Amino acid sequence: MSTPGPSADLALSCADCAAPFAFTGAEQAFYRERGLREPTRCAPCRATRRAERNAPAIAALDARLAAGAPVVTATDHGTFGGASATGGARFSRGTGSGYGGPRQLFPATCASCGAATEVPFPPRGGRPIYCRECFGRLRRR
Ligand SMILES: [Zn+2]
Ligand SMILES: [Zn+2]
Repeated sequence: MSTPGPSADLALSCADCAAPFAFTGAEQAFYRERGLREPTRCAPCRATRRAERNAPAIAALDARLAAGAPVVTATDHGTFGGASATGGARFSRGTGSGYGGPRQLFPATCASCGAATEVPFPPRGGRPIYCRECFGRLRRR
């Protein structure tokens, strides 16, 4: 299988407030994998837009960030700090029950370990699906 090399960070500027923000290689890979266009707005403006439109794929990324995955930008995710401090106090909402309202999940099989998983988009041929653990492991390299 072909492993796409890490992309360099991009320095973009926000279309709304013109603030500069970083579009990191890890984020680029995530967006590319989901067929999303690259962001044109900074994180705060994206959060505002997300609140308005609630795009499921973006919400999934946010859930991943909030769940403590190894990421990425230096935005303020520190509000979840209590989880790592207490250790093992995981948020057990990863399996599709009610994160911020209903969203459709599609069953998929992890291309790396073969575990059953769910993804917030319809799996398509030619695109490997990874479970949460493998995805985190892969993007950490
Ligand atoms: Zn902005
Ligand atoms: Zn896996």
